Amino acid sequence: MVEVAKRMSTIAPYLFADIERKIDEAKAAGVDIISLGIGDPDLPTPASIIDELARTAYDAHNHQYPSSQGMPAFREAVARFYQRRFGAEINAKSEICTLIGSKEGIANIHYCFVDSGDLVLVPDPAYPVYATATRLAGGECYYLPLKAANGFLPDLEAIPAAVADKAKLLWLNYPNNPTGAVCDLAFLRKAVDFARAHDILLCFDSAYSEMTYDGYIAPSVMQIEGAKDVAIEFGSCSKPFNMTGWRIGFAVGNPVAVQTLAKYKSNVDSGAFQAVQYAAIAGLEQPEPIVAASRAKYAARRDILVGGLRDMGWQLEYPRATFYVWAPVPRGFSSASFAEFLLDKAGVIVTPGNGYGAEGEGYFRATLTVEERRMAEAMQRIKQALGKVEF
Ligand SMILES: *Cc1c(COP(=O)(O)O)cnc(C)c1O
Repeated sequence: MVEVAKRMSTIAPYLFADIERKIDEAKAAGVDIISLGIGDPDLPTPASIIDELARTAYDAHNHQYPSSQGMPAFREAVARFYQRRFGAEINAKSEICTLIGSKEGIANIHYCFVDSGDLVLVPDPAYPVYATATRLAGGECYYLPLKAANGFLPDLEAIPAAVADKAKLLWLNYPNNPTGAVCDLAFLRKAVDFARAHDILLCFDSAYSEMTYDGYIAPSVMQIEGAKDVAIEFGSCSKPFNMTGWRIGFAVGNPVAVQTLAKYKSNVDSGAFQAVQYAAIAGLEQPEPIVAASRAKYAARRDILVGGLRDMGWQLEYPRATFYVWAPVPRGFSSASFAEFLLDKAGVIVTPGNGYGAEGEGYFRATLTVEERRMAEAMQRIKQALGKVEF
């Protein structure tokens, strides 16, 4: 008999398995499903980026093993991006590591800094990788509740000193998945001070830094003086350049953290395909026209989705970033029963909030990754199915 390692049992069973089965059944029965469930851009990768892949893919130099830390040219492009976008000086040699998608680095950083029994401070709700990678590395999560009343920011002062002193990593992600919340520089300054006071590596997930609306501009933790003493930031080409399938991202910041991650990676992977790195450079050097087009599309869809929910009685703000809308379920529903209701009665898929942590119970997440016409249709169907909404 094959025996699965015990650590695999520390990962929760797939929460959406049940809803996935129902989606398959509905599709098989010919139901027209509108999915607001998946956080994956529906827009294509821009031609300028694909052209660069095509050009460099023919160069035999790029057919060999890349370096695990990434090509100097890619790292230099990331450094220039940080200089232009955030006014932050990042050393391309020692403070940047190329990633095979930021998820890769987000997971692997735990193996670099978390020993058996160590604590990791993980927001709840959150992108699930922080908690699962903590457990796979043998660590334990201490959850930081994100409450609507606090703008979905964690209350760092509420963390007991004994917990903070024992913690190795603090995870923060703004603009935030799944809540769509944003933070300001003052909050990041507090987080850097907190990390310094307790010898914690602050891990900042900035996957949505460019997906912002209404003139809002997202900050980087690298804008805070002294951030590189205590922080590493994970960036991604997936969301800004519609490149989720290409697998390319980067880590920047504290040189010990970056180089430890590169050392770990040199033992478990062999870096990102160089032609993909060249393609991503094309995006990083000229991000504005690409992200401006996506922002306009997502903002228009957001207005239909949030406007529709507000019409039905939801009291919701328009999120200023990400492509997520995080909303409470109506009275009488749980997260799971509301998602099931929308699937059965409206053919609309949303993600139950409890999939992102216990604090997500009572919420659902809807994404902006369907075109306006379909979004309007989804809202019409939900209105028809729900009737009068109470909270
Ligand atoms: C999408 C996403 C990522 C990972 O993106 P990659 O494709 O691996 O670069 C990281 N963090 C959050 C919060 C995300 O939503």
